[in-house]
Amino acid sequence: MRSRWNEELAGTCKGYLEECVYGSRLLGQEASLVMHGGGNTSVKGAITNIFGETEEVLFVKGSGSDLATIKESDFTPCRMNHLLRLAELEHLTDTAMAAELRMSQTDITAPAASVEAILHALVPARFVDHTHADAILAITNTPDGERRVRTLFGDHLVYVPYVMPGFKLAKSCAQLFPALANQHTVGMLLLNHGLFTFGETAKAAYERMIDLVSRAERYLIESGADWKAGRDRAPDSSELSAPRPDCNELASAPLPLAKFRRAISDAAGRSMIVATRNDEEIAAFVARADLEAVALQGPATPDHVIRTKRVPLLGRDIDAFVAGYCDYFREFGNATLKMLDPAPRIVLDREWGLCAIGRTARDSGIVEDIYRHTMRIITAADALGGWRALPARDIFDVEYWELEQAKLAKSGSAQPFEGEVALVTGAASGIGKAAVDALLDRGAAVVGLDISPAVASMRTARAYLGIECDLRSDDCIRDALARAVRQFGGIDLLILNAGIFPRSSSVAALKTEVWRDVLTINAEANLNLMRECHPYLKLAKRGGRVVVIGSKNVHAPGPGAGAYSAAKAALQQLARVAALEWGRDGIRVNTLHPNAVFDTGIWTQQILEERARAYGMSVEQYKRNNVLGVEVRSVDVAMLVVDLCSDAYSKTTGAQIPVDGGMERVI
Ligand code: ZN
Repeated sequence: MRSRWNEELAGTCKGYLEECVYGSRLLGQEASLVMHGGGNTSVKGAITNIFGETEEVLFVKGSGSDLATIKESDFTPCRMNHLLRLAELEHLTDTAMAAELRMSQTDITAPAASVEAILHALVPARFVDHTHADAILAITNTPDGERRVRTLFGDHLVYVPYVMPGFKLAKSCAQLFPALANQHTVGMLLLNHGLFTFGETAKAAYERMIDLVSRAERYLIESGADWKAGRDRAPDSSELSAPRPDCNELASAPLPLAKFRRAISDAAGRSMIVATRNDEEIAAFVARADLEAVALQGPATPDHVIRTKRVPLLGRDIDAFVAGYCDYFREFGNATLKMLDPAPRIVLDREWGLCAIGRTARDSGIVEDIYRHTMRIITAADALGGWRALPARDIFDVEYWELEQAKLAKSGSAQPFEGEVALVTGAASGIGKAAVDALLDRGAAVVGLDISPAVASMRTARAYLGIECDLRSDDCIRDALARAVRQFGGIDLLILNAGIFPRSSSVAALKTEVWRDVLTINAEANLNLMRECHPYLKLAKRGGRVVVIGSKNVHAPGPGAGAYSAAKAALQQLARVAALEWGRDGIRVNTLHPNAVFDTGIWTQQILEERARAYGMSVEQYKRNNVLGVEVRSVDVAMLVVDLCSDAYSKTTGAQIPVDGGMERVI
């Protein structure tokens, strides 16, 4: 690992807090140091209070921020005096400690301070950095890990045996640090947890971290451990989208995978995202002969348990995993604790590879990132002298930490489509694009299909997968569905929006090829999609939902739009029959009939003018030619799409709802 410190950039920092932000972000850029909100940093400084007095404060990373993107306002100023006095108390529950940290703040609008704030205060240096570096964990998580790090780092570090994070850890450091620190001390190593470094400048604290971790990396390499240095931050979402899979390889996989996701969701009591990944690194890990021995020990550092659970499920027996989890809870839990859902978060399967499971695509992405690092740490530690995780009891204590349980009790306002997967056709523009955004905003993972390649890179969220797809081809549809299921685990919502609007043509002049084209895309392609999606929609935990984008033309066709009106009418009948047939599968099929939505892909200025002329109006009149005199936009239709998928419509199927500002001919 090399230092990313840049004197020129660092020189532009105004004051110590900015320097701390700069150093923190550098740490955040190394995924093998910290990931997804892990790690924390601080700087000691002073503020002037309302009475004009100077108070010494610790600016420490607040909860909810990520070192990679941290900014000044993410640091919480806590009174040093208050923190240091807390460390002198004999006992303090972590709930009481969190309350005290709140009270020590000099700015009540700042986020809650890191639970490691007291530790930072205790270290007698201005800048303090803390990471959960992979290379350090790979060495400490071995049978003679402590001996190894002591030999490697000597008296440059103070070694603290594993203690649960929180007040107990602060207390233990408060006792050990002053007793053991000497003039060479540049940091503190918390066994099986992570590393603290410090210095009088942000640069010193940062470079000591890089130096110590680099030494650990060299040690791993020299000891013959399989260590690949220089792996940086986890790939972003575009790289994460699994490489376009071979159709044959996946031909049989999607449905069993979707059934598996349903069983996971049942175990979790909610719809879950199941992201399946397989590459060289994963394949090699899951193929290990000793997989059970290494993978079922526990996480690399205790706070990963919140994301990954203590152990993965090996294979596909969810019932056995759930039973094992309940046993674990019975063994270590007590009546005051509320058992978390017993569903696995990591599945290692010799055929499928790695399944990363979370409440949202973002969560499953975090789970995936953490486990990729875990696999590297396990592999290196194993080669070094045997992988050894902390005992189950210690992991349980973190999983059921009172502060985590309190967070759980407070959270509850989940997004309406959290854990669900929506497939939207015609996603690259107009109503489809608006529906993609509306569904993403409400917590769904969204697969966008479009014939335009722009669909692939349209959104960068981890919850979005865009696939260029020609809906006229069954192979393309199956391939797209296989990719969708691999990415998120299934399909719960189907938004049939893709369509074309040909140039006006009277029936007398309507060419058969045009008629066929329009029927193929506006009607037949939807049949193909509905048929292919049906097995997945049937598996939706909250019931499958289909929203068909019809057209006002179904009930009030216009001259010159013969093919379009006929195709939409055919689609409409198909949707009604599907509503009849799929009710027993718990699938709802409802139709929206928009009219005159002009911010869509099918409306060019030319078509707009033609249609306006056909009605003897100006374009402006034509746009608002409805009872309410309003313009109907894509977002208006998208809002109804999400409403139809929501619980408000849970008893409605086969409905046809106009979104047209009111049409006399329809009313
Ligand atoms: Zn930590």
